[in-house]
Amino acid sequence: MNYFSTRNSEVKLGATAAIARGLAEDGGLYVPETFSQVSLDEIKNLCTMDYRQRAKHIITPYLSEFTETELEKIVSLSYADNYDTKAIAPTVFNENIGVLELWHGPTSAFKDMALQMLPHLLTLSLKKTNETRKVCILVATSGDTGKAALEGFADVEDTKILVFFPRDGVSDVQRLQMITQSGDNVMVSSVEGNFDDAQTGVKVIFGDKDLAQKLSEKGWFLSSANSINWGRLLPQIIYYFSAYCDSVNAGKIAMGDEIIFSVPTGNFGDILAGFIAKQMGLPVKKFICASNANNVLTDFINTGIYDRNRPFFTTASPSMDILISSNLERLLYMLCKNDKEVAGYMESLQKTGKYEVSDTLKTAVKADFYASYCDDADTKLEIKKLFDEKNYLMDTHTAVAYKSLENYRSETGDDTFAVVVSTASPYKFCDSVLDALGEDTSENGAKLIEKLAEKTGTIAPAPLCGLDKRAERFTTCAKKDELLKVVEEFLK
Ligand SMILES: *Cc1c(COP(=O)(O)O)cnc(C)c1O
Repeated sequence: MNYFSTRNSEVKLGATAAIARGLAEDGGLYVPETFSQVSLDEIKNLCTMDYRQRAKHIITPYLSEFTETELEKIVSLSYADNYDTKAIAPTVFNENIGVLELWHGPTSAFKDMALQMLPHLLTLSLKKTNETRKVCILVATSGDTGKAALEGFADVEDTKILVFFPRDGVSDVQRLQMITQSGDNVMVSSVEGNFDDAQTGVKVIFGDKDLAQKLSEKGWFLSSANSINWGRLLPQIIYYFSAYCDSVNAGKIAMGDEIIFSVPTGNFGDILAGFIAKQMGLPVKKFICASNANNVLTDFINTGIYDRNRPFFTTASPSMDILISSNLERLLYMLCKNDKEVAGYMESLQKTGKYEVSDTLKTAVKADFYASYCDDADTKLEIKKLFDEKNYLMDTHTAVAYKSLENYRSETGDDTFAVVVSTASPYKFCDSVLDALGEDTSENGAKLIEKLAEKTGTIAPAPLCGLDKRAERFTTCAKKDELLKVVEEFLK
């Protein structure tokens, strides 16, 4: 299968090159030239398989340069004992709603679904493209991505990983998760300031040609692990098929029935993977794009105007606090199939922070997506309601999607079977979840985890237990303009 850039469909390259490069030279994102088709008979067959077998079936056509043995190895390394359930991504059911739990991996958030696989795809892609240098993954994180990338890359041969997080911008649990990370090839540093300071510092390093030259001479190059890489999107397609099969197996739907997915959305990677599954033949009626108070996507889907010139809110669902959703560019390309048109929108976004799509695109977007959003007060009410009524405990991000599904149902009267995509364990955001349940949250993160277990009778994921008793390995705090020094020191 070949790939090309959303901003130039003339340059074609293979999966290994697309994964090794991450971002296209013209600034666009890589998309496959076609979407491999999965028939209903094949989906029926997937129903009899476990998650690993389903995974192999879905990703194989997109990775034609990989051998079957290599793919089997990648899949079994990615989804194994690193998950706390054999099902890997189980769907649990409340009457006519399924909840797809994507947080049974090592960091308790859905980023694991992709970041447990990306390191294997990337290292093999580098070998196959004859890259002789080693890769150093550089990440600025507001929380979930940093930890998931650390877990994914820890002790992976020929790689190093360096994560910067804002000293004043992550939760206690998230901070403890990162500074106690194990592995000989990892480094973590906090940065004085907020997420923007960390992100800006990292962007400057990526753009530093002198540094790139110096590192190259020493046999290193820098790469990122964020969700613009095709190698992160691909593993996310799997669980949409898997949830459909689990819903058939549970007798909630018949084979071939169309269903609805409600997805808590930030960078638009997760929901886009679902849309790709639909292009491949998965029967989906609608995707509900669920946002928090940073509702730039709600406005876009409803009006066709994307406008990031608006206040930024810090919310109880921080992994969705985003005003530029990078993967939306792939959706626009998939719908209009016109690289010049997409390049135009992106240029306008760069220059003015805003663009308006054509009427054809507006209609196309609305055919597949419904948008809704929910503020922190409603998010917390939803957590309490579901726990009181159904004894199901969910995190703040999942609650946004749950509420958005309810909004869809009451607005349209359509009660088609739906799956809510659950992106984090409630324990990862235990302060907000306890607050939603009306509990006091003045203690530290590790204590709040114990308290949530006690109050709800649920069990905390093992990797989140005893975080405060683990050795703190990384206590460096870099000044904003000192990130370069940390990088150079780490790769000396
Ligand atoms: C990253 C993240 C999201 C948003 O996913 P996108 O692919 O960026 O849209 C939602 N919830 C949680 C918990 C996340 O970590």
